Amino acid sequence: MEHIQFNLAQDRIPHTWYNILPDLPRPLSPTLHPATLNPIGPGDLAALFPHNLIQQEVSMDREIEIPGEVRQIYAQWRPSPLFRARRLERALDTPARIFYKYEGVSPAGSHKLNTAVAQAYYNKREGTKRLATETGAGQWGSALAMACRFFGLKCKVYMVRVSYDQKPYRRGMMETFGATVSASPSDETDAGRAILERTPQSPGSLGIAISEAVEVAAKDPETKYALGSVLNHVLLHQTVVGLEAIEQMALADDEPDVIIGCTGGGSNFAGLVLPYLGRKIKGRSRAKVVAVEPAACPSLTKGKFTYDFGDTARLTPLAKMHTLGSTFVPPGIHAGGLRYHGMAPLISHVLNLGLIEARSVQQLEAFAAGVQFARAEGIVPAPEANHAIAEVIREALLAREEGKQRTILFNLSGHGHFDMQAYIDYESGKLQNYDYPAAEIAMALAGLPAIG
Ligand SMILES: *Cc1c(COP(=O)(O)O)cnc(C)c1O
Repeated sequence: MEHIQFNLAQDRIPHTWYNILPDLPRPLSPTLHPATLNPIGPGDLAALFPHNLIQQEVSMDREIEIPGEVRQIYAQWRPSPLFRARRLERALDTPARIFYKYEGVSPAGSHKLNTAVAQAYYNKREGTKRLATETGAGQWGSALAMACRFFGLKCKVYMVRVSYDQKPYRRGMMETFGATVSASPSDETDAGRAILERTPQSPGSLGIAISEAVEVAAKDPETKYALGSVLNHVLLHQTVVGLEAIEQMALADDEPDVIIGCTGGGSNFAGLVLPYLGRKIKGRSRAKVVAVEPAACPSLTKGKFTYDFGDTARLTPLAKMHTLGSTFVPPGIHAGGLRYHGMAPLISHVLNLGLIEARSVQQLEAFAAGVQFARAEGIVPAPEANHAIAEVIREALLAREEGKQRTILFNLSGHGHFDMQAYIDYESGKLQNYDYPAAEIAMALAGLPAIG
């Protein structure tokens, strides 16, 4: 029989996360306080995050132990499977070998649970009663809602308005786990009310929803804030994906030449690629590593590498990253998880160091790729993951043109079972491409603070 699954036993769940910070050839630029513009210290974040996560944000330990209770919950779906996409290879008539790590097997349906469980755990241990957060498509909100329920925490979610309307079943899932969900911008916060006053019909953005959740956490001593992507500790928790993949590729007796992931804030991409980049820095991997983003929200390919706020209301610290400007409201593409104005500082940094490349994909090419993948492999991917698949198909067709073998590995970050309306709209010709919103981005970039 042809091998298509490369599975690890439960006791092969990693015992530690991989922290790339000590291996970087040049350190990350410091995060700055929004008022003083001085580098922030651990105390500045204490109102928002528990001590342990603040420590992980700046830790120089290469390996950070995964707590037993977190590993125990991981065991419900980890190690996640690695598949060889043999039917897709045949459909594309390519000499390339295509592998994918499938994170859609988590109960919440995506990789987001890898960090949600860890964040809820540390918050519980340090006495937090409630977590407030933002969500785009609802993947992060459902993961955090489940993790909060497991650890006995309350959960408040600000869901970007356009997704709240597009994806009611995601909201239903969060509420099933016991979370309270509001469409963002909402009239519950100063940040939300300010946006609604200017733009009553605002479709919302992750930047706005983050402002609302941060505001709620900052004002209530029993509530802390949780972010589903972007921050170093979130990317750290996702490295279980790449650590497992390295072992599974060894089982397949293969090595990736190309590694691909989609990028919203950068966490699923980071999860798969950071352990490989650690090897690349040490000369032990020569893989080309490609981040794929939507053409409608192209922070890595068209953004500016500079200091910006993480949110629209400028409540968060400033980080140096590829950004389209924190006031930019991206078009309402169906890949709601990719509608973020910025990019993880760590992913921005490794792009700047030349360790990775970045490309963009239009919505229609992404959905065409997702449908082709579903028909070949039987898994309906999340719209976000379709962007990665589009790039995988480009690479596989290039291999066919050149008549060259190559091994491609990508992160199938989640399933699209809650996104079927997007597929229905695609099939009936209702989805469209969006031109690069140059004027809006220029305006948002013009408003950036002038720092280094
Ligand atoms: C949230 C999400 C993304 C985008 O976020 P990253 O932090 O860039 O991973 C991608 N795929 C899925 C399935 C998601 O839920």
